[in-house]
Amino acid sequence: MRMNKYYKSYLHERRITIKKDARRLLHRKIQQINNQLIDKKILEYDTTSDTTIDTFKPAVYGSEIIKLNRIATAQDFQRLLNNSMVTKADWSRLVANNTARDVADKITAKEIQRIESNLKAVENVMNDASVNISQYKTLIEKLPPTTSRQEILNRTLERGHNLRGREYTQRELERLSRDLERYKSNRLDYETKRMENQQAYREGLDRIHQTKTWNWSELENTRHSQMDGQTVDFASKFEVVNEVTGDTDYLLFAGDIDNEHNNCSNTCNCQCWTSYENEEVTVENQSYSLSEVAYSSTAQGWQ
Ligand SMILES: [Zn+2]
Repeated sequence: MRMNKYYKSYLHERRITIKKDARRLLHRKIQQINNQLIDKKILEYDTTSDTTIDTFKPAVYGSEIIKLNRIATAQDFQRLLNNSMVTKADWSRLVANNTARDVADKITAKEIQRIESNLKAVENVMNDASVNISQYKTLIEKLPPTTSRQEILNRTLERGHNLRGREYTQRELERLSRDLERYKSNRLDYETKRMENQQAYREGLDRIHQTKTWNWSELENTRHSQMDGQTVDFASKFEVVNEVTGDTDYLLFAGDIDNEHNNCSNTCNCQCWTSYENEEVTVENQSYSLSEVAYSSTAQGWQ
């Protein structure tokens, strides 16, 4: 009966919540990279050496971001797999590594996109307005390294000039970090379940997770209320319609940023969530779940 209990708690979405504190540190580090680039752009505005140009190439500054994301994603995935039915095996390790890498790459791409748009905004400001460079320098040395550069720039513009172009505001920044964090945990959750299905398949069994359902977050009052309760096959995509704009996206799960349109409409700040269902199989009047029996011996999970 011990295994039944284990399986039950598992079915009740024994999901490991990703630790917020560690993530905050990750995002602070990425924010610092963003700020250092902006500072460099402003302070070296008049000098154009080859090294300066290299610094602003995503391929150059992105390598640090991708490293940070890959470590964090691998750790998060490991935690989920440790609490799943996926057994430790070469195939699962390979799939896990590839998946973690892919998730980290997707998140990094979004972060680079943000930094690019920030650098473009700064360039516009430097071209069109007059910035008091020495005052800027004083402020970045005095203020915490994660302070918004938009704020500092605003304070150092010479009188009569307006800030043209735009940098992400602090609020947008927090939202983006939250969205990427949510994407990461939802995607890893989905991938864990996909690996459990793969394992079942390898053992000649039915899929454990057969369908999934969209759950509308009641915090939003308009965007996805019609989506509530929609169920599709585990491997299919939800057809998600933004009730305000009419934009349609095909998403594997709520908050899937990896979609065709790749815009904000159906993913940014979306608090909806996805649940996964397992159908019970009836064999000779006896109703039980195949996977429960099959997995009782492998319930230890990943090490
Ligand atoms: Zn939503």
